Amino acid sequence: MRVLLVEDDDRFADALMTALRRHGYQVERARSGGEALAAGAAEVVLLDLGLPDMDGVDVLRQVRADSQIGIIVVTARGEEAQRVRGLRAGADDYIVKPFGIAELEARIEAVMRRVRSHRHAPAESACVGPLEVDHVRRSVCRDGVEIPLTRKEFDLLATLVRAEGAVVTRESLLAEVWHTTWGGTMRSLEVHVASLRAKLNEPGLIETVRGIGYRMRKS
Ligand code: CA
Repeated sequence: MRVLLVEDDDRFADALMTALRRHGYQVERARSGGEALAAGAAEVVLLDLGLPDMDGVDVLRQVRADSQIGIIVVTARGEEAQRVRGLRAGADDYIVKPFGIAELEARIEAVMRRVRSHRHAPAESACVGPLEVDHVRRSVCRDGVEIPLTRKEFDLLATLVRAEGAVVTRESLLAEVWHTTWGGTMRSLEVHVASLRAKLNEPGLIETVRGIGYRMRKS
């Protein structure tokens, strides 16, 4: 898999490139936004938003124009606002420095799974167990009978369904459904998951991955 690392910090970039290559990735590096936009094709872009020549979010938007590329924003601890800007501008995920190669690899794989399965032809509806989730009509039915959900409950369900059994982190759910990464919203997420589970009445369908997030049981 070809990875483009956009990072102006030499020490961090060298260590990361060595680790990625050891894990079998082909890595190209760009030191600036200009170099990133001039770089060759990649399947995944690891993008540091703090670049010397351009706003990283502008780089992100231009890379995003090609929907077949997975984009993971790399930020430092304490840069929540950056993360939200990145996700809103179309990043698929983000990772916070410092991180281990195992976590990065897991995120790259999850992003590529989503990119490959959805970007070509986003599914208009999906069957999950006995439920049919219609992303266009924003409805969920069991045996043809609609289960009334609130807007946030539906967004939550749709986000989990689109991940097709992959774990969706609590942070990504907050970003996608609540458009925030503020931890204070976490309680609201838990309340919505509980009410969604009660309405769907399908025990075990939405699995809790402790300390990380949620995923749909594979049917
Ligand atoms: Ca930087």
